[in-house]
Amino acid sequence: MTCERTNRKIAIVGGGPGGYVAAIRASQLGASVTLIEKDSVGGTCLNRGCIPTKVLLKTARLLDDIKNSDIFGVRVKNAELNWEGLTKRKDEVIDHFVAGVTSLLKGNNVEVLHGKARMRSSRALEIFLPDGAIRILETDSIILALGSLPTVPPIPGLDLSGILTSNEALSLDRPPRSMMVIGGGVIGVELASAFASFGADVTIVEVAEEILPRYDADLVTLLRATLKRKGIKIETSSRVLKVDPHDDIYRVALESGEGAGKKVVDVEKVLVCVGRRPNTKDLNLDNLSVKTDRGRIVVDEKMSTSLDGVYAIGDCASQFMLAHVASTEGEVAAENAMGRDAKMSYAVIPSGVYTEPEMAIVGISEKEAVEKGLNAKVGRFSLSSNSRAVIQGQPQGMVKIVADGSTGEIWGAQMFAPDATDLVMEIALAMRSEATLDEVIATIHAHPTVSESIREASLDVFQRAIHALPLQV
Ligand SMILES: Cc1cc2nc3c(=O)[nH]c(=O)nc-3n(C[C@H](O)[C@H](O)[C@H](O)COP(=O)(O)OP(=O)(O)OC[C@H]3O[C@@H](n4cnc5c(N)ncnc54)[C@H](O)[C@@H]3O)c2cc1C
Repeated sequence: MTCERTNRKIAIVGGGPGGYVAAIRASQLGASVTLIEKDSVGGTCLNRGCIPTKVLLKTARLLDDIKNSDIFGVRVKNAELNWEGLTKRKDEVIDHFVAGVTSLLKGNNVEVLHGKARMRSSRALEIFLPDGAIRILETDSIILALGSLPTVPPIPGLDLSGILTSNEALSLDRPPRSMMVIGGGVIGVELASAFASFGADVTIVEVAEEILPRYDADLVTLLRATLKRKGIKIETSSRVLKVDPHDDIYRVALESGEGAGKKVVDVEKVLVCVGRRPNTKDLNLDNLSVKTDRGRIVVDEKMSTSLDGVYAIGDCASQFMLAHVASTEGEVAAENAMGRDAKMSYAVIPSGVYTEPEMAIVGISEKEAVEKGLNAKVGRFSLSSNSRAVIQGQPQGMVKIVADGSTGEIWGAQMFAPDATDLVMEIALAMRSEATLDEVIATIHAHPTVSESIREASLDVFQRAIHALPLQV
């Protein structure tokens, strides 16, 4: 590990996965680091995002497994959700990681200041401390890691008290009997899936023609079928017109673009998941000429803003609102603030949807390859022919590999498979290290594993899959 003692001062605003990772990296490089956080370290990811949603989804998966246990030869009587137990576990997991981040920061000699920061100049911050005092912090560089906030569209009724965003959905007193999820993106689909497993009658309303518009259509079709099997209703090409409170329910008026006209749905809870906006208000960015684009801080590949010595990372600046992207940008910004020449590359960004089975993608899809005019070959492998997936009772998935058929260069992969979010990393590493399909194929994959389906999909690019019937010519 490099350890250059330089005494350079770096101030980081925001202690989410962008900010705390930047703090640790800057400290490793010898900076004297102050991290300012107005809430709890770990940011959205630990406190209101990645971690609590996955705790809910773990319990959802367990409940679904118990419901389906008969097919595995296990009879379970009277399994029921213990909401207090789940809430307690969620809070314990969050506390565990918040304490972990706190001790990592301490162990790396990062000073953590609790308070709200505002920029005074490119070299100074005002910090509003909880006791009402204001502290001025002079520094050599600033890294802004301010995160994002849920967007609530201006639809009549969505400003009513009791309407949920993902923040409130993660701390309900009890699971609702029915829920409308407005927005069929990753967060909406994950929460819809969890609450359906907890017994709620869930409807997803999505304005686009399909849920998860960024994901591969073949795989979304498979996911949609599993969501429907869980009883989730999906209204695509549909928009919410208004929400009215009615006794102890909400009456939601919808308009469907698929010729079904208008309809009204009564639900106990309405959850808005239509996206997130950068949290860049109140920082004094405009007065300091920090360039923004619709609220997002504009940065270059070094994560530098338009103001010399000021960097921005994560959801407040990035095109990708993902924790691992925020962290990588944090390392890049910290290195540049310490005089190195680091550049951010977005060529290989894995991401996932933590449904059951999971969906994961990296690189480009078949559709994107066509749009880019690439002569892509696509290899497919159905998990109904993968022994591990069948043993696990999850044969409904598929792996797709998008590649240059002549050179074997891998351009992307999409998978709907058990633990796909881990599985996708094989292709991410192959792409990053410029390995071709030949290397993936030459790698002996352990049996029985779901990873064998990656090798089979790679073989299918050359019509050589062993465990799939050849195409009849
Ligand atoms: C429900 C949900 C599920 C998600 N699941 C996943 C997932 O599975 N995988 C994934 O990769 N991503 C997921 N995300 C996205 C992920 O949480 C974000 O991309 C990530 O947290 C961004 O990190 P960040 O450091 O940029 O910002 P944040 O994590 O939002 O942290 C920003 C921090 O800055 C602080 N702050 C802001 N302004 C100030 C100020 N003026 N002074 C002091 N402090 C300030 C805030 O309090 C906050 O703690 C999810 C998000 C949500 C909402």
